[in-house]
Amino acid sequence: MSTQEGDQSKVAALARARPDRVIPAFGYHPWWAHRISLSAPAGSVPDHATHYRALFLPESPPSSSQPPSAELEAAFARLLPTLPPPIPLADVITDVRAHLTEFPTAMLGEVGIDRAARIPFATSVDDGSDGGTNNRLLSPFLTPFAHQLSVLEAQLALAVELRRNVSLHSVKASAQTRELFDRMAATHGAAWFAISVDVHSCTLSPEVWRVIEVRLFHLRPPHLVACTSPTPEARGGTSTDG
Ligand SMILES: [Zn+2]
Repeated sequence: MSTQEGDQSKVAALARARPDRVIPAFGYHPWWAHRISLSAPAGSVPDHATHYRALFLPESPPSSSQPPSAELEAAFARLLPTLPPPIPLADVITDVRAHLTEFPTAMLGEVGIDRAARIPFATSVDDGSDGGTNNRLLSPFLTPFAHQLSVLEAQLALAVELRRNVSLHSVKASAQTRELFDRMAATHGAAWFAISVDVHSCTLSPEVWRVIEVRLFHLRPPHLVACTSPTPEARGGTSTDG
């Protein structure tokens, strides 16, 4: 299962080498969603500092304009040189589409939303090998939820179009996940119910889970939404799985 720009081709190579053993999954995980520009044209290289400042230190509305605190500016100055060049969402979708098309049994994954994961500081230029939180000092910055959702929904639309099942990471986003499923059903109708979704790092509340079961599973048996156990860390609020 792939997670970010650097490992899509590695998963594809593995699947080509062992087609009898590997069912690949292609997608961009929320821990790396900050690297993706929603607005940059396909094939462009968005301006590095402008992209990350807009995400992590957005300007306040003029009426309540307050400059970022000195602490946040210092953290941003430390983090910025370690972040890789942003990539356009259009290029991300082209990449996922190409891999899903090459592998007709491939899933979309790992994709999702995570309202707990902060961007880690790196000790050197980030090689992309560990965008998670394991054993790394965390910056104060989270990828804005709306940004994560835009990256996720663009990928889910592709999964619906190509009829691929989904591995979905959902942390501290119980109500938002339920709303997402409702929105996908309203937008895509029967096509949404034609694919299955496996939710993991699952921090959905029992109440939300019952609503999802009733709306999706019981009403449309072919559409399976499975929820695997959360990690203890995910339950406590800091996601440490992939
Ligand atoms: Zn995950």
